[in-house]
Amino acid sequence: MKFETKAIWVGQAADEATGATIVPIYQTSTFTQEEVNKHKGYEYSRVGNPTRSALDACLASLEEGKYGLTFSSGLAAEHAIMSMLKPGDHVIVPEDMYGGTYRLIKEIFEPFNIKFSFTDFTDLKVIGNEFLPSTKMVWIETPTNPTLKIFDIRAISELSHRHDALVVVDNTFLSPFFQKPLLLGADIVVHSTTKYINGHSDIIGGAVVLNDKGLYDKIHLVQKSVGAVPSPFDSWLTLRGVKTLAVRMRQHEENAFKVAMFLQKQSNVQEVFFPGLETHPGHEIAKKQMTGFGGVVSFKLKGGLSECNVFFKKLKIFQLADSLGGIESLANYSAMMTHDYFPKELREKIGVTDNLIRLSIGIEHIDDLLDDLKNALV
Ligand SMILES: *Cc1c(COP(=O)(O)O)cnc(C)c1O
Repeated sequence: MKFETKAIWVGQAADEATGATIVPIYQTSTFTQEEVNKHKGYEYSRVGNPTRSALDACLASLEEGKYGLTFSSGLAAEHAIMSMLKPGDHVIVPEDMYGGTYRLIKEIFEPFNIKFSFTDFTDLKVIGNEFLPSTKMVWIETPTNPTLKIFDIRAISELSHRHDALVVVDNTFLSPFFQKPLLLGADIVVHSTTKYINGHSDIIGGAVVLNDKGLYDKIHLVQKSVGAVPSPFDSWLTLRGVKTLAVRMRQHEENAFKVAMFLQKQSNVQEVFFPGLETHPGHEIAKKQMTGFGGVVSFKLKGGLSECNVFFKKLKIFQLADSLGGIESLANYSAMMTHDYFPKELREKIGVTDNLIRLSIGIEHIDDLLDDLKNALV
C-alpha cells in the first residue's frame, strides 16, 4: 500500500461494533470486563484507548516501523525515550536542536547524572571522537531548527551502531512523507505531532515509532507509568489531520521553494536557509536521504531586532508565533522565542543570530504569501 492510502486506512477499518466508517472518539476512561481479566484488549485509557491505538498503528505504518506510541506532546515522547537512560550513561547530541529538547536535557536529565556531549553533527570525525564506553544513545535532529542544517542519518547510524549506541531521530521537520529514518538505519523515530502530522495547529502531541519489541516494551512501560498520553479527542484530531499529510506536504514544499527563491532576490535579505537550494551546504545529503525539502525557510534580514520587528508588524497573513507545520503561515524570531532558553554564546555559534527569522510556509495561495512578504520587506 502506498503512503497516501496508508494515511487514510491503516488502523482505521470500519468500527466493528457499529460500522462507523471513521474511527470513533472513544471518550472513556475505563472498559467493562466480562469477567476478571477477560476483556476486549482495553482496560483503562492511560494504558490503551482504541482511538489512540488507531493513530499509533497509522503512524507506525507511515514511518515503516512495527510499533507506534503516541504522547500528549513531542517533549513527553522525547522524555519517554530518554527515561530508558540510567545515571552515568552518556548521550551524544547535536549542539543545534529544538530549544525544548535542550531544556529537557539541561533541567530534567543532566540533574540525574546522565551526561550529554553537545557536538557538531556536520562532521562525522567530530562525532566519532565523542564516543565513550558509556555512550548509550545518539540523538539526531535533521533538518535542524531553525537553521536547517542537514545531518547524514545513514552515516551517523552506522558509526553509532559500531559503538552499540541507539540512534534516535527527531523527524518533526519533514514528517514521514519526506524522510523515513528507520529505513536509513535509525532505531527510534520521535515526532512532535503538533507540527506537520496533525498539521492544523489545534493540538499538542507526540509520537515514537520503532521496530524493536524490547525497546517498545520499555517505552510503553514509561508511557503507562508516567501517563503523558493524548486524549481520545486529540488522537482523533491527529488521525483526521494525518489523512491529508501527503497533499499538505507537497503544497508546503512547493510554496516554500517559491518563498526561498523570492527571498534570495531581496536586497535587504542577507542569507536564505532552505535545504532545497543548491547553495545550501547540506543539499547533497538532503537529496540522498529526503524525498522533499520541507516547508520551513529561514533567513537573515539585514539589521537586528528592530528591523525584524518592523517586518513582523507589516505582515498581514504570516502570524508572529511559535510552532510550525500547520496549514497557516507563521513567522518566528528564534533568538527570543523558540531558542530563548539557549545561552547566548551557543545561540550565536549555531547561527541563531538576532536577525534570523524562521518562516513556516503554509498552504495559502503562493501569490498572497509573496505579496505579504514583499510588502513587509520594503
Ligand atoms: C515542537 C518540536 C518539539 C516539541 O514538541 P511539542 O509537541 O511542542 O512538545 C520537538 N522537536 C521539534 C523539532 C519540534 O519542532
